[in-house]
Amino acid sequence: MSGTVLLDSAAVDQELVCVCCHCHRVRTGTGAWEPRYVSESDEVSHGICRECYGQFYPGCRLPRTAA
Ligand SMILES: [Zn+2]
Repeated sequence: MSGTVLLDSAAVDQELVCVCCHCHRVRTGTGAWEPRYVSESDEVSHGICRECYGQFYPGCRLPRTAA
């Protein structure tokens, strides 16, 4: 049933943990980046935080979707 599949994928997306690949801080639900332990059961996605983005890519603007 396609409806069930859609619900499942949405739940997974919400639990995705975004980790900065430079400083390894984790993005919280409020959009802040904090040092946090990531368990092996967490779905981890590597990204880059606002601070590291400005440090490593000073010539680039941070996309709104990554803020
Ligand atoms: Zn970072």
